[in-house]
Amino acid sequence: MTKLKAQGREPAMHDCITVAHKLPHFDVTTDPEFLPCADGSIMVRTAGTVTLPVPSACPRCSSMMRLHAYETVHIRDIPIFNAQHLLEVRYQRHRCSCCGAEVSQDIPFKTDGHFITDRYARLVSRYLGYGMTNKTVHRLLGLNVHLVKALDKGRLEGLYGKAPKTPSRYIAIDEISIHSHHRYATVVIDLETGHVLFCEAGKRKQQVQHFIQYVGKQWLSKVVAVSMDMNAQYDSAFKEAAPHIQIVYDPFHLIKLYGDSVITKLRRRLQQEALEREDRATYEELKGGRFILLSNRRTLEAQDSMARENNRDLSENYERKGLQIPAGRRRQRTGKLSHLDRLMGVNKGLNVAYVLLEQFKLAYAVRDPLVLESGMHQWCHIARQSKIPELLSFAATVENHLQGIVNHAYHPISSGKLEGTNNLAKVIKRNAYGFVDDEYFFLKLMAASRRPYYKPRSPRFLH
Ligand SMILES: [Zn+2]
Repeated sequence: MTKLKAQGREPAMHDCITVAHKLPHFDVTTDPEFLPCADGSIMVRTAGTVTLPVPSACPRCSSMMRLHAYETVHIRDIPIFNAQHLLEVRYQRHRCSCCGAEVSQDIPFKTDGHFITDRYARLVSRYLGYGMTNKTVHRLLGLNVHLVKALDKGRLEGLYGKAPKTPSRYIAIDEISIHSHHRYATVVIDLETGHVLFCEAGKRKQQVQHFIQYVGKQWLSKVVAVSMDMNAQYDSAFKEAAPHIQIVYDPFHLIKLYGDSVITKLRRRLQQEALEREDRATYEELKGGRFILLSNRRTLEAQDSMARENNRDLSENYERKGLQIPAGRRRQRTGKLSHLDRLMGVNKGLNVAYVLLEQFKLAYAVRDPLVLESGMHQWCHIARQSKIPELLSFAATVENHLQGIVNHAYHPISSGKLEGTNNLAKVIKRNAYGFVDDEYFFLKLMAASRRPYYKPRSPRFLH
């Protein structure tokens, strides 16, 4: 209205709208003012007083309290007509004449810990619950980013701050990288729903102990099996606190371990030996064979045929017509399969290690526990006959962890779903340009593993 006055116009009937503010115990004392802001926007300011009675007896000595002073506080409310809405709230401060204790009048529509109204906090929570990012909410409503973060954290704590109630039958535990410089967190997920149940910085035994304390014995009693890699820390914590839970070693982790501790180690050793006897050709062949040795034959075959198809397409459509190859396309290397065959010819040991990996995968896929167990013994026997040191030590690892491997036949679970959680973590970090607050990051991860709770509904009038 001041804006209208400034334009030399008195507010007329068709310029006004009267709406009840619906704030409990708030008495508006002056007309809303329209104030121009530095960024060109308009802010509406509404002044008023709180009408909630103040207790007359002192909380400390029960003597009479007397009005001591009036205070004013600014509280943000839901924007009106696309303008920021600021409430100028006057409240009373009472003082005890006997002991000097002071009590302020309660502002019933203010949210705890922040200078915004309850209904505004609920609106922000709803937007965040729909899946809007903090930055979008900050830009949309013009609220401070730290305030949006604090409200979001409070919202997520309310949703996921408590231990899960729905029982889980199968869970998986693994470490995920949360920061650079090798900082990790332990994550536990429900394998059937994919929901993140627990997150904590660190990857030691105590993280499992904290998880067990957090969910409680009752919840834990419903868990049948847990999938994990051969991590002695996680393993012993589960065995001690929840011996009824079957430990299953995740097949993907085992295959990765084989790749790292047998194939890669062996290749490096052979590479070194070739270098020592100055066999440059073998050295180069081995050096370039890193990824080829870690892929299976069928994958290499498929990659070769795709590369050939790509090259044929490029030559028919561009090169033969004298046209330039478009950006983003290039000729691809073929002959990965023949590279593998050459590598197999370089050294018998490499050939054995490669073939034994395929055998190991087949042995692991068996669904009969007795057959799986005898298959593993057989596999270890063959591995030992090779006399290759890397294979000998892997066979020993397998035999030491046989129970967890055989359990896979009873409960064919894997930590595959946890890979998805790892990707979610990366997306969250990227959206927030790295996270400083670990606790908030874990809550975000828990929320991201579940669907947003938004259900579109069209308004229905009751009358
Ligand atoms: Zn008192």
